[in-house]
Amino acid sequence: MIRPSETSFTKILPMTSDEALRRRFMILDEPIEANMRFGLLLEVLDKVAEEAALNYVNRFYPEARVVTAAIDNIVIRHVTDMSRDVHFKARINHVGRSSLEIGIRVEQPGDPVKHIASCYFTMVARSGVGEGAVSVVLPGLEYSEEIEQQRAAKALQRREEYKKQQALLREPPSREEFEMLTSLHAAQDEPGFNGLLTGHLTADAWERMYPEQENVPKKIFGGYLIRRAYELSSICCEQVAPNRPVPAAVNRINFFHPVRMGDTLHYTARVVYTSGSLICVEANIERISRDRTTKALSNSCLFTFMNINEKLEQQPVPVVYPTNYGEDARYLAAHRSCQSLTRDRQTA
Ligand code: GDP
Repeated sequence: MIRPSETSFTKILPMTSDEALRRRFMILDEPIEANMRFGLLLEVLDKVAEEAALNYVNRFYPEARVVTAAIDNIVIRHVTDMSRDVHFKARINHVGRSSLEIGIRVEQPGDPVKHIASCYFTMVARSGVGEGAVSVVLPGLEYSEEIEQQRAAKALQRREEYKKQQALLREPPSREEFEMLTSLHAAQDEPGFNGLLTGHLTADAWERMYPEQENVPKKIFGGYLIRRAYELSSICCEQVAPNRPVPAAVNRINFFHPVRMGDTLHYTARVVYTSGSLICVEANIERISRDRTTKALSNSCLFTFMNINEKLEQQPVPVVYPTNYGEDARYLAAHRSCQSLTRDRQTA
């Protein structure tokens, strides 16, 4: 049987030696802190997760491919440094029936090594094309070392936690949560209320999908979509961040429906929750088919940003107020998701 360590895959972005690459990843053409485009890193991450998964799947099914089902989460631990290379160290943490959890540790070498992020992707192995595509059954891994057992257990925990959070959305809130929402609504009834309403903190964009996207061999389309969703979210976020918002975490990204050439995409981003220096932005991508008969949600994303000053110190963000039932539900879901990410961080 194969062990997780034998599924290791590494990709390097040689920022220090490749001038064009460094320029492509810059946010600004100035020596600012945290100057690396996170949206582009997301594209690379999706590609790395695909390659790591495919290496394993193709050992047993040479014709099969893998698709991204979800990004369970990405926890960003340090800001990036433009004067260092970026290393993506991927391996499989857990293999289910036809799904795999790929873990990716993003580091920047140096003394000391900078640990940039910990990322977890759920990939699914498929065979065949179009209507005839089916999931394939994968052989499991052997988890012999303690760290391998821990990572496999955490992969299952992440899956359970997500299911639990989804189930909770259909349940009434706890007493504490109810009181939190009630006070947000009561504040809006006060005379002279001038707080920020979540319903006003939105941004949207439209885009058509051209064959150009398909022509580039192995181009990871999913990665492109989430980069665009992230970039719109970061613009949307500036409506509430008094300073500079930088990415703190990807709470969750779901891939529901594939996007096809000729589709029209509608991206919507909205600030759903703030707390301390944190801002949560939800982004959805809706696809409209070429013949305009099908509309479907292709992706849903929840990003958390942190508001910081030039010295990278956290700065407070104003409270945002949900008004209607849907906004309350999104506020609550983001609140819970941030709490569970904070818990994970403390136990990591
Ligand atoms: P962890 O998941 O709590 O161990 O957090 P880390 O940030 O250390 O690692 C994130 C993921 O990256 C892990 O779950 C592993 O799947 C993968 N990973 C960590 N270290 C290595 C390594 O040295 N090589 C490879 N190929 N993958 C690694």
